[in-house]
Amino acid sequence: MTDYKQYSFWLDSLDESLTARSALQHSADVDVAILGAGYSGLWTAYYLLREHPGLKVTIVEREIAGYGASGRNGGWCSSRFPVTPRMLAARFGREQARNMVLAMHASIDEIGRVCDEEEMDAQFHKGGILSLARGAHQMNAIRSTYAGYESLGLAQHHRLLSSEEVAERVQVTGVQGGLLSTEGASLHPARLVRGLARAVERRGATIYEQTEVLDFHTGPNARLITRNGELRARKAIVLAGEAYLTRLKKLHRALLPVYSLISITEPLTSDQWRQIGWQNRESLASNKYSVDYLTRTADGRILFGSRGAPYVFGSKITHDQDRHAETHALIRKSLVEWFPMLEGIKFTHSWGGPVGMPRDWMPTVAFNPTTKIATARGYTGQGVSTANLAGRILAGLIGGRPSQLENLPLVQHASPNWEYEPLRWLAVRYTQGALGRIDQAAHDGRSRPIDARLAEYLGRH
Ligand SMILES: Cc1cc2nc3c(=O)[nH]c(=O)nc-3n(C[C@H](O)[C@H](O)[C@H](O)COP(=O)(O)OP(=O)(O)OC[C@H]3O[C@@H](n4cnc5c(N)ncnc54)[C@H](O)[C@@H]3O)c2cc1C
Repeated sequence: MTDYKQYSFWLDSLDESLTARSALQHSADVDVAILGAGYSGLWTAYYLLREHPGLKVTIVEREIAGYGASGRNGGWCSSRFPVTPRMLAARFGREQARNMVLAMHASIDEIGRVCDEEEMDAQFHKGGILSLARGAHQMNAIRSTYAGYESLGLAQHHRLLSSEEVAERVQVTGVQGGLLSTEGASLHPARLVRGLARAVERRGATIYEQTEVLDFHTGPNARLITRNGELRARKAIVLAGEAYLTRLKKLHRALLPVYSLISITEPLTSDQWRQIGWQNRESLASNKYSVDYLTRTADGRILFGSRGAPYVFGSKITHDQDRHAETHALIRKSLVEWFPMLEGIKFTHSWGGPVGMPRDWMPTVAFNPTTKIATARGYTGQGVSTANLAGRILAGLIGGRPSQLENLPLVQHASPNWEYEPLRWLAVRYTQGALGRIDQAAHDGRSRPIDARLAEYLGRH
């Protein structure tokens, strides 16, 4: 029996045993068949059943609800979108970019609202996001992000802070300034995903666990195929497996699995919290290419997350990639660099998981009534609120009741496939390595590597 608690602190901290629900043992006809019991699949089921209570909705999950990124993430329920506001405006125009950002704002409040309505204690706390310039070289990124929001007429949700103003909120070393955004919350990811699974069951959905979808067929006989039966869908099949979708032959190059890794401390003492501040529990980040994101948990720990684990040839996803000794050691060292007063602090859990990165960074939420295939995927590391938005959109498209969100640029978007190997491996490993070298040079106070511009171009979004 798999001990699912090993996959994250969040799953480990649940007051439930994580025993798997029954597996699918027979074939069945349903209205909507969903692959994946993470946020995307469950939010889609939730909104479908809220609008159409009689619908037969069945979810099949390879492991258990919350096994994937939804049970492992950094707890940022944020308005950040994988494509920056500036790039959104450049690609889709100002109006579309603005609508996209506002839809992300609304998703945060919607998650908070459903948590209340369904009595899911996901420790939702709207403390905002505080993006820090750690070092003068990161000030440009902060100013440029603010200017991006300003150009969309959304500056009222964001405020540039001086280093003194940051220090009044949180004591972090090397801070030159910050950008405070009101639209962000933190939450307990596993409580949300497990609560959602129960909420959709209360509304009539069936969830089969430890049931892997091996293939799917499209068109009039659309179905999900598993070892012991198939689910034939009258209305739609929803492919909501994010990074793990790449294991299906038909979707192998649709996304790139990129690992995000996390370590979490023991609960801090009240004296340590007095020194650090961070009373408002903003989601914290700096502006490094290799990404660092921090959460102050409801039980007084610090979660520190980062990218950095190298891409594995052939888009392989294996358990041993959940832990990468070198990256986790760097994360633990970085935390003490941020908060030197925590020298000697114990880390109780280290884990990780793959995020799904599309070739053009743009998530896709799509439904084709002819093929009957629906999908929501490609959030890279920004899926907690985006998956809620995707669920509302898909429920509207499949159920035939417009959600007023159909014109957003992620709807019916088609990202190009990733390159074939070995080109994919060569390009991704080069870009990961080069962006890491830029960060390291900045950290050591050295000049930028000569290929910095090329790496920034390849990694831009
Ligand atoms: C370490 C980490 C930190 C992150 N931090 C943040 C954060 O702080 N904020 C944020 O916004 N986003 C974050 N993300 C991203 C975010 O968690 C995801 O984008 C989001 O959870 C995706 O939800 P999902 O339902 O689409 O996919 P998942 O939660 O991955 O769910 C997909 C499910 O499908 C199942 N599945 C896949 N293939 C099959 C198959 N063939 N048959 C049956 N079942 C299948 C999987 O087992 C899995 O349970 C993070 C991700 C990771 C890994």
